[in-house]
Amino acid sequence: MKFSTDVLIIGGGISGLSLAIKLSQFAKDYKILLITKEKLEESNTFYAQGGIACVWNENDNFEKHIQDTLIAGDGLCDENIVRQILTQAPQRIKELIKWGVEFDRNENGEYDLGKEGGHSERRILHVNDLTGKSVESKLIEQVRKINNIEIKEQWCAVNLYAKDFVCYGAYILDQARREIHNIAARITVLATGGAGKIYLYTTNPDVASGDGIAMAYRAGTTIANMEFYQFHPTCLYHPYAKSFLITEAMRGEGAILMDIAGNKFMEKYHPEKDLAPRDVVSRAIDAELKKSGDDHVYLDISSYRDSNFIKSHFPGIYEECLKYNIDITTDPIPVVPAAHYCCGGVLAGIDGITDVKNLYVIGESACTGFHGANRLASNSLLEGLVCAHNCAKSSLFLVSRASSSRFFNICRISFKVCDSHRKSRS
Ligand SMILES: Cc1cc2nc3c(=O)[nH]c(=O)nc-3n(C[C@H](O)[C@H](O)[C@H](O)COP(=O)(O)OP(=O)(O)OC[C@H]3O[C@@H](n4cnc5c(N)ncnc54)[C@H](O)[C@@H]3O)c2cc1C
Repeated sequence: MKFSTDVLIIGGGISGLSLAIKLSQFAKDYKILLITKEKLEESNTFYAQGGIACVWNENDNFEKHIQDTLIAGDGLCDENIVRQILTQAPQRIKELIKWGVEFDRNENGEYDLGKEGGHSERRILHVNDLTGKSVESKLIEQVRKINNIEIKEQWCAVNLYAKDFVCYGAYILDQARREIHNIAARITVLATGGAGKIYLYTTNPDVASGDGIAMAYRAGTTIANMEFYQFHPTCLYHPYAKSFLITEAMRGEGAILMDIAGNKFMEKYHPEKDLAPRDVVSRAIDAELKKSGDDHVYLDISSYRDSNFIKSHFPGIYEECLKYNIDITTDPIPVVPAAHYCCGGVLAGIDGITDVKNLYVIGESACTGFHGANRLASNSLLEGLVCAHNCAKSSLFLVSRASSSRFFNICRISFKVCDSHRKSRS
């Protein structure tokens, strides 16, 4: 079948969904089609645990967050981009709150800010250890209320229509009907997430197979920094557990890594010990495993926090580990490092602009220069939100300038896209 739309958004994680909401607010008459490879919820966003980093109280300031990000990025971040994204953060987080996300508060009613590796202050807003699930659900609730957004699940983008560095839409495999659809779009946005599934051990769900980056590459965009794949130090090690992450926030609340014999080891590797940046902790675990020949190390929270604290702060992890007979209130958790976050991707501005006209890339699929060689914990949901906002503003300008009939004519001639919808609109 053949479809046409003003904006085609490929991906339904934090970047795709928040972009759809923003675009619909800015332009109520645009037709927006959002497609996802599996069910709408299934995304890296859904599985995010720790939270979203943002300068929120008076003990903290943007300079500190900027410095932490630059240090984690190991000299390879673009400082200008880092500044732009981090200073827009509070505004974007307030919008998330408006859309219904209820971040945890302490007994004084203030937001309960968590701390994670590489952060010099407590600045992680979270919904216990299920932040991503809450964010994804609230965004889905919003999107489902908006009339000009159409959602298609189990529609897998196979390739982009692109010629001479101009994008005209995409080919889609409708997995339920087993049909290929041709979708002509004035603007195509890839919000397809990361590529963890190209590694044997990953914290990512199956949808994270780098499709968007591959499609963009074939369309002629520049791809950068793919060698900087971030490994998360603590993925649950168990033969039956698939890709289950033990959040860094647990180390932020006092959990300590130790070898199988019970020896702590992080003091040998970094002054911040267990709260060193992720790459340092992952390499330290790897070095310990290579020396000992063991399959895993342990992460222990049970010796440092009482049972009620553990259950209330980490309910998701507590429940999941119990399924494997690991009671985290009494037992250390077996963990290994696993592929977690794609610091590279399609070279794009913070508004998603790429070097292929009409093609935008946002979120984990994009390489904006924000993360450099290594992402600072909890900075990625934030990047998705901020870039979606900026993308909505800049793509709107482009859509409104393009002549709809001329554009779809080109689509039809170049790609034989039959565009019945266009005729009914013009
Ligand atoms: C276990 C885990 C914990 C994390 N914890 C945190 C955290 O605490 N804080 C933080 O900031 N970050 C965290 N991250 C990273 C963060 O979740 C991601 O970077 C972020 O959610 C990416 O959002 P996105 O919108 O770019 O992509 P995603 O949320 O991954 O969404 C990608 C979407 O693209 C769709 N898609 C992919 N390929 C295709 C295709 N070919 N056709 C159609 N649709 C397609 C998918 O179906 C999905 O809907 C975590 C990641 C994981 C895996």
